[in-house]
Amino acid sequence: MKYIVEYSNRKTISLRIIDEDTVKVSAPYFIDNNRVESFVKSKERWVNSKINQIKKAKTKFYDVIYGNKLVVMGDYIEVFGDKNKVLQEKAEEYLPKRLEYLSKLYNFKFNSVKIKNYKSKWGQCDSKGNITLNVKLIMLSSEVIDYVILHELCHTVYLNHQSSFHKKLSSYFKNEKVLIKELKEYSILLKTQF
Ligand SMILES: [Zn+2]
Repeated sequence: MKYIVEYSNRKTISLRIIDEDTVKVSAPYFIDNNRVESFVKSKERWVNSKINQIKKAKTKFYDVIYGNKLVVMGDYIEVFGDKNKVLQEKAEEYLPKRLEYLSKLYNFKFNSVKIKNYKSKWGQCDSKGNITLNVKLIMLSSEVIDYVILHELCHTVYLNHQSSFHKKLSSYFKNEKVLIKELKEYSILLKTQF
C-alpha cells in the first residue's frame, strides 16, 4: 500500500484516507520507520475496504461527479450550466417546507432554517434550535432526506447523540439500516465540488 507520511510535533501516529489513491499518515518527528510501516500494515485491511467503498461510489455517481448529470431526490437529471445553482434552487424549494411539515407532524419546535454548502456534514442543529441543512441533501432520496431532517429535529430535544436520541430517531423509521447505508454511499458527493 502506498502512503505519504507527514511528520509533526505530535505524540501519536494516525492515518487518513484522502481519496482512493492517497493515504496520509501523520506521525511524530522522531519515529522509527519500522513503526510507521507496521502501523500502516495493521490498518491495511480497513484502508482497502474503505478505498473499495470510495471506488464503488465514484463509479455509481460517475456522471454526477465528472459529467453533466445531477441526482435530485434520487433521480438523475441532465444539467447544462451551473450545477450549484440548480441544486440551490431545488434545495430551497423543497427542504425548508419539508422541515416545516415534519416538525408539525411529529411535534418538534425549531427556531430557524438555513441552507448551506457544507463539505463534511448533511446538517446541523444548535442549542437554540437553529437548523442548517446541506444544499446537497436534495440529491438524496426523499426517505433519506426525511431521515436527516428528523435527525436534526431530534437534536432540538437531545443535543448529543446519546441513546435516547437514537431511540427517538429510530422510532420514525422501520428500515433505518438501509437509510444509513444509502447516506454513506452518497457521502462521496458531500466532498465533490461542482
Ligand atoms: Zn447529529
